[in-house]
Amino acid sequence: MSGPVVRFAPSPTGRIHIGNARTALFNYLVAARAGGRFVLRFDDTDLERSTAEFARGIEVDLSWLGIAPQLTVRQSDRVALYEAAAERLKQMGLLYPAYETQAELDRRRKLKQARGLPPVYDRAALALTDADRAKLEAEGRRPHWRFKLDHRLVEWDDGVRGHCHIDCASLSDPVLVREDGSFLYTLPSVVDDIDLGITDVIRGEDHVTNTAVQIQIVDALAGAGQAPRFAHHNLLVDASGAGLSKRSGALSIASLRDGGVEALAVAAIAVLTGSSDEVHAVGSLVELAQMFDLAHVSRNAAKFDPADLRTLTQRTLLKLDFESVRERLAAHDIVGAHAEAFWLAVRGNIETFLDVCDWWRIVDGEIAPVIEDAAFCKAALDLLPPDPWDEKTWSAWTSAVKGATGRKGRELFHPLRLALTGRETGPELARLLPLIGRTRAQARLGS
Ligand code: GLU
Repeated sequence: MSGPVVRFAPSPTGRIHIGNARTALFNYLVAARAGGRFVLRFDDTDLERSTAEFARGIEVDLSWLGIAPQLTVRQSDRVALYEAAAERLKQMGLLYPAYETQAELDRRRKLKQARGLPPVYDRAALALTDADRAKLEAEGRRPHWRFKLDHRLVEWDDGVRGHCHIDCASLSDPVLVREDGSFLYTLPSVVDDIDLGITDVIRGEDHVTNTAVQIQIVDALAGAGQAPRFAHHNLLVDASGAGLSKRSGALSIASLRDGGVEALAVAAIAVLTGSSDEVHAVGSLVELAQMFDLAHVSRNAAKFDPADLRTLTQRTLLKLDFESVRERLAAHDIVGAHAEAFWLAVRGNIETFLDVCDWWRIVDGEIAPVIEDAAFCKAALDLLPPDPWDEKTWSAWTSAVKGATGRKGRELFHPLRLALTGRETGPELARLLPLIGRTRAQARLGS
Protein backbone atom coordinates (compact mmCIF):
# COMPACT_ATOMS: atom_id res chain seq x y z
CA MET A 1 0.00 0.00 0.00
CA SER A 2 1.40 3.39 -0.91
CA GLY A 3 1.40 6.28 1.56
CA PRO A 4 -0.70 9.43 1.55
CA VAL A 5 -0.42 11.98 -1.24
CA VAL A 6 -0.77 15.54 0.03
CA ARG A 7 -0.45 18.96 -1.49
CA PHE A 8 0.42 22.47 -0.40
CA ALA A 9 -1.29 24.95 -2.68
CA PRO A 10 -0.16 28.54 -2.22
CA SER A 11 -1.08 31.27 -4.67
CA PRO A 12 2.17 32.94 -5.69
CA THR A 13 0.87 36.42 -5.00
CA GLY A 14 3.35 37.04 -2.18
CA ARG A 15 5.91 35.19 -0.09
CA ILE A 16 4.70 32.73 2.53
CA HIS A 17 4.56 33.54 6.23
CA ILE A 18 4.74 31.35 9.30
CA GLY A 19 0.99 30.64 9.13
CA ASN A 20 1.35 29.29 5.60
CA ALA A 21 4.38 27.33 6.74
CA ARG A 22 2.09 25.68 9.32
CA THR A 23 -0.09 24.31 6.51
CA ALA A 24 2.92 23.28 4.44
CA LEU A 25 4.53 21.50 7.38
CA PHE A 26 1.36 19.70 8.44
CA ASN A 27 1.13 18.29 4.94
CA TYR A 28 4.81 17.49 4.80
CA LEU A 29 4.84 15.73 8.18
CA VAL A 30 1.79 13.62 7.35
CA ALA A 31 3.50 12.49 4.15
CA ALA A 32 6.95 12.06 5.70
CA ARG A 33 5.64 9.99 8.58
CA ALA A 34 3.92 7.48 6.34
CA GLY A 35 6.28 7.39 3.35
CA GLY A 36 3.89 9.45 1.24
CA ARG A 37 4.33 12.15 -1.38
CA PHE A 38 4.21 15.93 -1.08
CA VAL A 39 3.01 17.90 -4.08
CA LEU A 40 3.64 21.64 -4.38
CA ARG A 41 0.84 23.19 -6.41
CA PHE A 42 0.95 26.82 -7.37
CA ASP A 43 -2.57 28.21 -7.54
CA ASP A 44 -1.61 30.83 -10.11
CA THR A 45 -4.80 31.18 -12.12
CA ASP A 46 -4.97 34.83 -11.05
CA LEU A 47 -2.53 35.91 -13.73
CA GLU A 48 -2.49 39.53 -12.71
CA ARG A 49 -1.39 38.99 -9.12
CA SER A 50 0.68 35.80 -9.47
CA THR A 51 4.33 36.09 -10.41
CA ALA A 52 7.10 33.64 -11.23
CA GLU A 53 9.35 35.46 -8.72
CA PHE A 54 6.94 34.82 -5.87
CA ALA A 55 6.68 31.16 -6.93
CA ARG A 56 10.47 30.85 -6.97
CA GLY A 57 10.63 32.60 -3.60
CA ILE A 58 8.14 30.15 -2.10
CA GLU A 59 10.27 27.24 -3.36
CA VAL A 60 13.28 28.79 -1.64
CA ASP A 61 11.28 29.26 1.58
CA LEU A 62 10.07 25.65 1.58
CA SER A 63 13.53 24.33 0.88
CA TRP A 64 14.92 26.39 3.78
CA LEU A 65 12.27 24.83 6.01
CA GLY A 66 13.50 21.39 4.89
CA ILE A 67 10.62 20.58 2.56
CA ALA A 68 11.54 19.07 -0.81
CA PRO A 69 8.40 18.45 -2.89
CA GLN A 70 8.28 15.25 -4.94
CA LEU A 71 6.31 17.08 -7.59
CA THR A 72 5.64 20.74 -8.44
CA VAL A 73 2.78 21.80 -10.69
CA ARG A 74 1.35 25.12 -11.81
CA GLN A 75 -2.34 25.59 -12.41
CA SER A 76 -1.57 27.98 -15.25
CA ASP A 77 -0.15 24.96 -17.16
CA ARG A 78 -3.26 22.89 -16.58
CA VAL A 79 -6.12 25.06 -17.85
CA ALA A 80 -7.09 22.53 -20.55
CA LEU A 81 -7.97 20.05 -17.78
CA TYR A 82 -10.22 22.59 -16.08
CA GLU A 83 -11.91 23.44 -19.36
CA ALA A 84 -12.60 19.77 -20.01
CA ALA A 85 -14.04 19.36 -16.51
CA ALA A 86 -16.23 22.44 -16.92
CA GLU A 87 -17.49 21.03 -20.21
CA ARG A 88 -18.40 17.74 -18.52
CA LEU A 89 -20.27 19.55 -15.77
CA LYS A 90 -22.19 21.54 -18.37
CA GLN A 91 -23.16 18.33 -20.13
CA MET A 92 -24.40 16.92 -16.83
CA GLY A 93 -26.52 20.04 -16.34
CA LEU A 94 -24.50 20.96 -13.24
CA LEU A 95 -22.84 24.10 -14.56
CA TYR A 96 -25.22 26.78 -15.73
CA PRO A 97 -24.79 30.24 -17.20
CA ALA A 98 -25.85 33.26 -15.17
CA TYR A 99 -25.85 36.86 -16.37
CA GLU A 100 -26.38 38.99 -13.30
CA THR A 101 -23.96 41.84 -12.83
CA GLN A 102 -22.30 42.36 -9.48
CA ALA A 103 -24.54 45.36 -8.87
CA GLU A 104 -27.67 43.28 -9.50
CA LEU A 105 -26.46 40.56 -7.16
CA ASP A 106 -25.66 43.10 -4.46
CA ARG A 107 -29.08 44.67 -4.74
CA ARG A 108 -30.86 41.30 -4.46
CA ARG A 109 -28.71 40.29 -1.51
CA LYS A 110 -29.60 43.47 0.35
CA LEU A 111 -33.31 42.98 -0.34
CA LYS A 112 -33.12 39.48 1.10
CA GLN A 113 -31.24 40.61 4.14
CA ALA A 114 -33.78 43.38 4.73
CA ARG A 115 -36.49 40.72 4.75
CA GLY A 116 -34.52 38.59 7.17
CA LEU A 117 -33.75 35.91 4.58
CA PRO A 118 -30.35 34.30 4.10
CA PRO A 119 -28.44 36.07 1.30
CA VAL A 120 -28.35 33.02 -0.95
CA TYR A 121 -28.38 33.25 -4.74
CA ASP A 122 -31.95 32.69 -5.90
CA ARG A 123 -31.08 30.66 -9.02
CA ALA A 124 -32.96 33.09 -11.23
CA ALA A 125 -30.61 32.18 -14.07
CA LEU A 126 -31.94 28.61 -14.09
CA ALA A 127 -35.32 29.94 -15.21
CA LEU A 128 -33.91 31.67 -18.29
CA THR A 129 -35.11 30.30 -21.61
CA ASP A 130 -32.90 29.96 -24.69
CA ALA A 131 -34.56 33.10 -26.02
CA ASP A 132 -33.81 35.04 -22.81
CA ARG A 133 -30.18 34.03 -23.01
CA ALA A 134 -29.92 34.92 -26.68
CA LYS A 135 -31.37 38.33 -25.89
CA LEU A 136 -28.92 38.95 -23.03
CA GLU A 137 -26.02 37.91 -25.22
CA ALA A 138 -27.22 40.14 -28.01
CA GLU A 139 -27.05 43.00 -25.47
CA GLY A 140 -23.38 42.16 -25.07
CA ARG A 141 -23.66 40.28 -21.77
CA ARG A 142 -21.32 37.35 -21.15
CA PRO A 143 -22.31 34.64 -18.70
CA HIS A 144 -20.43 33.49 -15.65
CA TRP A 145 -21.01 29.86 -14.72
CA ARG A 146 -22.43 28.49 -11.49
CA PHE A 147 -22.30 24.98 -10.10
CA LYS A 148 -25.76 23.65 -9.32
CA LEU A 149 -25.49 22.41 -5.76
CA ASP A 150 -27.53 19.45 -4.66
CA HIS A 151 -29.43 20.83 -1.67
CA ARG A 152 -28.40 18.03 0.65
CA LEU A 153 -26.40 17.64 3.80
CA VAL A 154 -22.73 16.98 3.01
CA GLU A 155 -20.84 15.16 5.75
CA TRP A 156 -17.22 14.22 6.25
CA ASP A 157 -14.97 12.99 8.98
CA ASP A 158 -12.44 15.79 9.43
CA GLY A 159 -8.89 14.86 10.49
CA VAL A 160 -8.87 17.76 12.97
CA ARG A 161 -12.48 18.77 13.57
CA GLY A 162 -14.08 15.34 13.70
CA HIS A 163 -17.51 14.83 12.18
CA CYS A 164 -18.53 17.83 10.05
CA HIS A 165 -21.68 18.56 8.12
CA ILE A 166 -22.86 21.43 5.98
CA ASP A 167 -26.35 21.89 4.64
CA CYS A 168 -25.79 22.89 1.02
CA ALA A 169 -29.30 24.35 0.83
CA SER A 170 -27.88 27.25 2.84
CA LEU A 171 -25.17 27.99 0.25
CA SER A 172 -25.27 29.96 -2.99
CA ASP A 173 -24.45 28.00 -6.10
CA PRO A 174 -20.75 28.82 -6.41
CA VAL A 175 -19.40 30.61 -9.46
CA LEU A 176 -16.75 28.37 -11.01
CA VAL A 177 -16.01 30.28 -14.24
CA ARG A 178 -15.87 34.06 -14.68
CA GLU A 179 -17.33 36.08 -17.58
CA ASP A 180 -13.94 36.10 -19.31
CA GLY A 181 -13.68 32.30 -19.16
CA SER A 182 -11.09 32.28 -16.36
CA PHE A 183 -11.50 29.95 -13.41
CA LEU A 184 -12.03 30.77 -9.78
CA TYR A 185 -10.16 28.64 -7.26
CA THR A 186 -12.84 26.00 -6.57
CA LEU A 187 -12.93 23.89 -9.73
CA PRO A 188 -9.19 23.81 -10.58
CA SER A 189 -8.47 22.71 -7.03
CA VAL A 190 -10.87 19.76 -7.28
CA VAL A 191 -9.70 18.79 -10.76
CA ASP A 192 -6.08 18.77 -9.62
CA ASP A 193 -6.83 16.86 -6.43
CA ILE A 194 -8.49 14.15 -8.52
CA ASP A 195 -5.88 14.16 -11.30
CA LEU A 196 -2.89 14.08 -8.94
CA GLY A 197 -4.39 11.37 -6.75
CA ILE A 198 -4.43 13.54 -3.62
CA THR A 199 -5.55 11.37 -0.70
CA ASP A 200 -5.49 14.01 2.06
CA VAL A 201 -6.37 17.69 1.81
CA ILE A 202 -4.91 19.43 4.85
CA ARG A 203 -5.58 23.16 4.93
CA GLY A 204 -6.70 26.06 7.06
CA GLU A 205 -10.15 26.13 8.62
CA ASP A 206 -11.02 29.13 6.45
CA HIS A 207 -11.73 26.51 3.76
CA VAL A 208 -14.33 24.47 5.65
CA THR A 209 -17.29 25.80 3.64
CA ASN A 210 -15.47 25.16 0.37
CA THR A 211 -15.22 21.53 1.36
CA ALA A 212 -18.94 20.80 1.08
CA VAL A 213 -18.97 22.32 -2.40
CA GLN A 214 -15.79 20.55 -3.41
CA ILE A 215 -17.07 17.18 -2.21
CA GLN A 216 -20.12 17.66 -4.43
CA ILE A 217 -17.90 18.50 -7.41
CA VAL A 218 -15.70 15.44 -6.79
CA ASP A 219 -18.84 13.30 -6.58
CA ALA A 220 -19.93 14.68 -9.96
CA LEU A 221 -16.57 14.33 -11.71
CA ALA A 222 -15.07 11.22 -10.12
CA GLY A 223 -18.02 9.41 -8.60
CA ALA A 224 -19.64 9.42 -5.17
CA GLY A 225 -17.34 8.56 -2.30
CA GLN A 226 -14.16 9.43 -4.21
CA ALA A 227 -13.41 12.61 -2.26
CA PRO A 228 -10.06 12.79 -0.44
CA ARG A 229 -9.91 12.90 3.34
CA PHE A 230 -10.06 16.45 4.67
CA ALA A 231 -8.46 18.05 7.69
CA HIS A 232 -8.93 21.73 8.54
CA HIS A 233 -6.52 23.13 11.04
CA ASN A 234 -6.82 26.24 13.22
CA LEU A 235 -4.99 29.33 12.01
CA LEU A 236 -2.00 30.94 13.69
CA VAL A 237 -2.80 34.28 15.25
CA ASP A 238 -0.47 36.73 16.95
CA ALA A 239 -0.54 37.56 20.65
CA SER A 240 -3.35 40.11 20.12
CA GLY A 241 -5.45 37.48 18.37
CA ALA A 242 -5.06 39.06 14.94
CA GLY A 243 -4.59 36.77 11.94
CA LEU A 244 -1.49 36.87 9.76
CA SER A 245 -1.72 38.25 6.29
CA LYS A 246 0.66 37.83 3.39
CA ARG A 247 1.42 41.48 3.76
CA SER A 248 2.56 41.12 7.38
CA GLY A 249 6.13 40.99 6.11
CA ALA A 250 7.80 40.63 9.51
CA LEU A 251 6.59 37.06 9.88
CA SER A 252 7.39 36.04 6.32
CA ILE A 253 9.66 33.03 6.15
CA ALA A 254 12.22 35.10 4.25
CA SER A 255 12.40 37.80 6.92
CA LEU A 256 12.56 35.30 9.78
CA ARG A 257 15.46 33.56 8.03
CA ASP A 258 17.24 36.86 7.39
CA GLY A 259 16.71 37.78 11.04
CA GLY A 260 18.63 34.70 12.18
CA VAL A 261 15.68 32.56 13.26
CA GLU A 262 16.40 28.84 12.84
CA ALA A 263 14.23 26.92 10.37
CA LEU A 264 13.56 24.23 12.97
CA ALA A 265 12.44 26.86 15.48
CA VAL A 266 9.95 28.15 12.91
CA ALA A 267 8.83 24.57 12.27
CA ALA A 268 8.40 23.74 15.96
CA ILE A 269 6.37 26.87 16.66
CA ALA A 270 4.36 26.59 13.45
CA VAL A 271 3.47 22.96 14.08
CA LEU A 272 3.13 22.65 17.85
CA THR A 273 1.36 25.92 18.67
CA GLY A 274 -2.37 25.35 19.13
CA SER A 275 -1.99 21.64 19.78
CA SER A 276 -1.96 19.45 22.87
CA ASP A 277 1.83 19.06 22.47
CA GLU A 278 3.97 21.60 24.23
CA VAL A 279 6.10 23.83 22.00
CA HIS A 280 9.71 22.72 22.37
CA ALA A 281 12.90 22.68 20.34
CA VAL A 282 13.55 19.79 17.98
CA GLY A 283 16.77 18.66 16.33
CA SER A 284 15.26 17.60 13.01
CA LEU A 285 12.03 17.42 11.02
CA VAL A 286 12.19 13.65 11.45
CA GLU A 287 11.91 14.16 15.21
CA LEU A 288 8.95 16.48 14.66
CA ALA A 289 7.32 13.99 12.28
CA GLN A 290 7.60 11.20 14.86
CA MET A 291 5.60 13.08 17.44
CA PHE A 292 3.22 14.93 15.12
CA ASP A 293 -0.40 13.91 15.04
CA LEU A 294 -3.19 15.89 13.35
CA ALA A 295 -5.54 14.66 16.04
CA HIS A 296 -3.55 16.69 18.60
CA VAL A 297 -4.36 19.94 16.82
CA SER A 298 -6.82 21.99 18.82
CA ARG A 299 -9.97 23.67 17.51
CA ASN A 300 -9.16 26.87 19.36
CA ALA A 301 -7.11 29.66 17.81
CA ALA A 302 -3.40 28.92 17.68
CA LYS A 303 -1.99 31.94 19.49
CA PHE A 304 1.72 32.52 19.41
CA ASP A 305 4.16 35.18 20.46
CA PRO A 306 6.76 35.96 17.77
CA ALA A 307 9.24 36.77 20.55
CA ASP A 308 9.33 33.03 21.35
CA LEU A 309 11.08 32.44 18.03
CA ARG A 310 14.26 33.95 19.51
CA THR A 311 14.41 31.73 22.59
CA LEU A 312 13.42 28.69 20.58
CA THR A 313 16.20 29.46 18.11
CA GLN A 314 18.77 29.26 20.91
CA ARG A 315 17.31 26.01 22.20
CA THR A 316 17.24 24.63 18.68
CA LEU A 317 20.89 25.48 18.04
CA LEU A 318 21.81 23.54 21.16
CA LYS A 319 20.07 20.49 19.71
CA LEU A 320 21.76 20.53 16.33
CA ASP A 321 24.48 17.94 15.89
CA PHE A 322 27.57 18.64 13.84
CA GLU A 323 26.37 16.76 10.75
CA SER A 324 23.30 18.95 10.49
CA VAL A 325 25.35 22.15 10.43
CA ARG A 326 28.56 20.97 8.71
CA GLU A 327 27.70 22.63 5.41
CA ARG A 328 26.48 25.82 7.01
CA LEU A 329 29.73 26.08 8.97
CA ALA A 330 31.77 25.38 5.84
CA ALA A 331 29.94 28.23 4.10
CA HIS A 332 31.64 30.51 6.66
CA ASP A 333 35.01 28.77 6.19
CA ILE A 334 34.63 26.93 9.47
CA VAL A 335 36.25 23.69 8.38
CA GLY A 336 39.03 21.36 9.38
CA ALA A 337 39.88 18.99 12.20
CA HIS A 338 38.53 21.28 14.91
CA ALA A 339 35.23 22.20 13.28
CA GLU A 340 33.19 19.61 15.15
CA ALA A 341 34.74 20.31 18.57
CA PHE A 342 34.25 24.00 17.87
CA TRP A 343 30.54 23.56 17.11
CA LEU A 344 29.95 21.45 20.20
CA ALA A 345 31.74 24.07 22.30
CA VAL A 346 29.85 27.12 21.04
CA ARG A 347 26.34 25.91 20.13
CA GLY A 348 25.03 26.58 23.63
CA ASN A 349 26.37 30.15 23.69
CA ILE A 350 25.06 31.67 20.51
CA GLU A 351 21.87 33.59 19.91
CA THR A 352 21.79 33.06 16.20
CA PHE A 353 23.83 30.81 13.97
CA LEU A 354 25.83 33.70 12.54
CA ASP A 355 27.41 34.24 15.97
CA VAL A 356 29.67 31.28 15.14
CA CYS A 357 31.71 33.67 13.00
CA ASP A 358 32.77 35.73 16.03
CA TRP A 359 33.67 32.64 18.03
CA TRP A 360 35.61 31.14 15.15
CA ARG A 361 37.65 34.32 14.95
CA ILE A 362 38.29 34.03 18.70
CA VAL A 363 39.64 30.49 18.41
CA ASP A 364 41.20 30.72 14.98
CA GLY A 365 42.01 34.35 14.25
CA GLU A 366 43.06 37.66 15.69
CA ILE A 367 41.39 39.31 18.67
CA ALA A 368 42.13 42.20 20.99
CA PRO A 369 42.85 40.47 24.35
CA VAL A 370 41.74 42.35 27.45
CA ILE A 371 44.49 42.36 30.09
CA GLU A 372 43.16 43.31 33.51
CA ASP A 373 46.24 42.37 35.48
CA ALA A 374 49.43 41.99 33.47
CA ALA A 375 51.47 40.41 36.29
CA PHE A 376 48.86 37.76 36.92
CA CYS A 377 48.57 36.98 33.21
CA LYS A 378 52.35 36.68 32.96
CA ALA A 379 52.41 34.24 35.89
CA ALA A 380 49.68 32.20 34.20
CA LEU A 381 51.56 32.29 30.88
CA ASP A 382 54.64 30.80 32.51
CA LEU A 383 52.56 27.90 33.81
CA LEU A 384 50.96 26.98 30.46
CA PRO A 385 51.28 23.18 30.09
CA PRO A 386 53.22 21.78 27.13
CA ASP A 387 51.46 20.44 24.03
CA PRO A 388 49.42 18.39 23.22
CA TRP A 389 46.33 20.05 24.68
CA ASP A 390 42.93 18.56 25.27
CA GLU A 391 39.83 19.31 27.35
CA LYS A 392 41.68 18.45 30.59
CA THR A 393 44.36 21.07 29.97
CA TRP A 394 42.27 23.96 31.34
CA SER A 395 41.72 22.32 34.70
CA ALA A 396 45.37 21.21 35.05
CA TRP A 397 46.60 24.68 34.13
CA THR A 398 44.21 26.67 36.35
CA SER A 399 45.02 24.36 39.31
CA ALA A 400 48.67 25.20 38.82
CA VAL A 401 47.90 28.94 38.54
CA LYS A 402 45.76 28.73 41.66
CA GLY A 403 48.61 27.01 43.55
CA ALA A 404 51.14 29.61 42.45
CA THR A 405 49.02 32.76 42.95
CA GLY A 406 46.56 31.79 45.67
CA ARG A 407 43.67 33.11 43.56
CA LYS A 408 40.42 31.23 43.18
CA GLY A 409 36.92 31.55 41.74
CA ARG A 410 36.15 34.61 39.63
CA GLU A 411 39.47 36.26 40.55
CA LEU A 412 41.26 33.34 38.98
CA PHE A 413 39.09 32.62 35.96
CA HIS A 414 37.79 36.00 34.85
CA PRO A 415 41.13 37.62 33.90
CA LEU A 416 42.08 34.47 32.01
CA ARG A 417 38.80 34.50 30.04
CA LEU A 418 39.25 38.19 29.19
CA ALA A 419 42.82 37.67 28.06
CA LEU A 420 42.11 34.53 26.04
CA THR A 421 38.82 35.54 24.40
CA GLY A 422 38.45 39.29 24.85
CA ARG A 423 34.93 38.57 26.15
CA GLU A 424 33.26 38.71 29.54
CA THR A 425 31.31 35.52 28.96
CA GLY A 426 31.17 32.63 26.55
CA PRO A 427 31.50 28.89 26.12
CA GLU A 428 33.35 26.74 28.64
CA LEU A 429 37.06 27.50 28.51
CA ALA A 430 37.89 23.82 28.98
CA ARG A 431 36.51 23.37 25.46
CA LEU A 432 37.80 26.59 23.96
CA LEU A 433 41.37 26.42 25.23
CA PRO A 434 42.50 23.45 23.11
CA LEU A 435 40.89 25.12 20.09
CA ILE A 436 42.71 28.40 20.76
CA GLY A 437 45.96 26.42 21.10
CA ARG A 438 49.21 27.12 22.88
CA THR A 439 50.71 29.64 20.47
CA ARG A 440 47.71 31.97 20.52
CA ALA A 441 47.20 31.55 24.26
CA GLN A 442 50.83 32.54 24.90
CA ALA A 443 50.56 35.58 22.69
CA ARG A 444 47.28 36.73 24.27
CA LEU A 445 48.42 36.32 27.85
CA GLY A 446 51.67 38.15 27.16
CA SER A 447 50.24 41.03 25.17
N1 GLU B 1 -4.68 28.46 -2.90
C1 GLU B 1 -5.55 28.13 -1.80
C2 GLU B 1 -5.11 28.95 -0.59
O1 GLU B 1 -3.96 29.35 -0.53
C3 GLU B 1 -5.45 26.65 -1.52
C4 GLU B 1 -6.48 26.11 -0.60
C5 GLU B 1 -6.47 24.62 -0.56
O2 GLU B 1 -5.56 24.07 0.05
O3 GLU B 1 -7.33 24.00 -1.16
O4 GLU B 1 -5.89 29.23 0.28
